[in-house]
Amino acid sequence: MTPLDEPGHVAEIRAQVARFVAEQAPPEARKAWDRAHAWPRDVYARFNALGLTALTVPEQWGGAGQDLVAAVAVIEELAQAGPFLAGPYIHTAFYGGMNLAENGSPEQKAEWLPRLARGEAFFAYGLSEPDVGGDLASVTTRAERDGDTIIVTGAKRWCTGADWADVIYCLVRSGPAEARHRNLSFLLIPTDTPGISMHGIEHANLRYTKSQDVHFDGVRLPLSAIVGGEAMWNRGWEQLAGRALDVEKIEISAVAYGIARAALAEAWSYAQQRHQFGRPISQHQAIRHKLVTARTRLAACRHMLYHAAQLASAGRPCAAETAMAKLFIADTGVEIALACQQVMGAYALSDAYEMERHVRDLLGMPIVGGSSDMQKNNLAGIWKL
Ligand SMILES: Cc1cc2nc3c(=O)[nH]c(=O)nc-3n(C[C@H](O)[C@H](O)[C@H](O)COP(=O)(O)OP(=O)(O)OC[C@H]3O[C@@H](n4cnc5c(N)ncnc54)[C@H](O)[C@@H]3O)c2cc1C
Repeated sequence: MTPLDEPGHVAEIRAQVARFVAEQAPPEARKAWDRAHAWPRDVYARFNALGLTALTVPEQWGGAGQDLVAAVAVIEELAQAGPFLAGPYIHTAFYGGMNLAENGSPEQKAEWLPRLARGEAFFAYGLSEPDVGGDLASVTTRAERDGDTIIVTGAKRWCTGADWADVIYCLVRSGPAEARHRNLSFLLIPTDTPGISMHGIEHANLRYTKSQDVHFDGVRLPLSAIVGGEAMWNRGWEQLAGRALDVEKIEISAVAYGIARAALAEAWSYAQQRHQFGRPISQHQAIRHKLVTARTRLAACRHMLYHAAQLASAGRPCAAETAMAKLFIADTGVEIALACQQVMGAYALSDAYEMERHVRDLLGMPIVGGSSDMQKNNLAGIWKL
């Protein structure tokens, strides 16, 4: 399912990652990681040696130059093994590399981007809070300035990776709440700063790690923690609404697409092996129609994903295309998941196959990373409806 116009170097990277996944992340291992709610440090270290986290970091900071089509292909191939390698890759290449390349100060870029390009640092994304989901402009975690110090108090929820990341890329309320969009800032909060505590949350999807509830109790940071430097204090909304968030939608769409592809591959092959009423179930019209419809939908997802990635990679405006991709692929991923589940009957619910995990992961996609409703609201705004 390689896009027809895929550049040669992307096809090579794709093949390299596909080989790695087939050799190093077999289905039995994926099941064990899912049960343990954890990603494999040793396998990921071997993957990291391929140097692919450099794909979101500009050359001047030690990266390979931003090549978002290639980075999306990496995610798609890693996601053939579920979220266990794609997840940590995103924490480095996107939450870290992409965000800082876009919004960091020269000092922050110099400090972090070379490490991120080498895959030696992980970022967590601190947007959601106990009372803040889609409505990010109502963030309440407070950051107050006291001379040269910033003091952070509050809580983040669903801060995935906070327990093993180096830094939380954290959206905070830095001025009066009335001017909702104007008084927000992004901070780089090292996870070992005194005053931070956290605990894991149980969840059914994306079980490469337990997402975290994080508490900040008078956490003290230097002014250099402000993403983009002091001039960006109270200008976090601009950073949130900018290109980095457009790209964030592509990266989660790539996970959804990759997992939907894996789900269809499993159902496709199962339907040809499983016999009922004297023939493979793929010969029954109800089953073949489900599979053909799912494959057609998957092809549409692929076009939307790589079209959006190409625009983003070329630095062209892509807010609508990335929002459409997130909306369409997440919602279509659920349709594909449910169709594939039906094709596999009882075995889609057993742990003899991977379908039950694919379904759990795909059901969450219209929620995480900006819900489908939020994408519709965004698009209505972009199109001035
Ligand atoms: C496994 C997992 C990992 C996550 N990782 C992270 C992470 O690393 N960092 C992070 O910051 N967050 C993370 N999240 C949080 C995720 O991004 C949020 O769940 C998501 O933004 C939606 O927020 P919510 O679930 O609180 O929904 P809510 O905002 O409470 O919405 C609930 C429902 O109402 C709908 N709705 C709300 N407002 C409107 C409206 N105005 N118009 C139409 N419909 C509306 C929503 O679409 C949704 O269907 C994670 C979540 C999960 C499950």
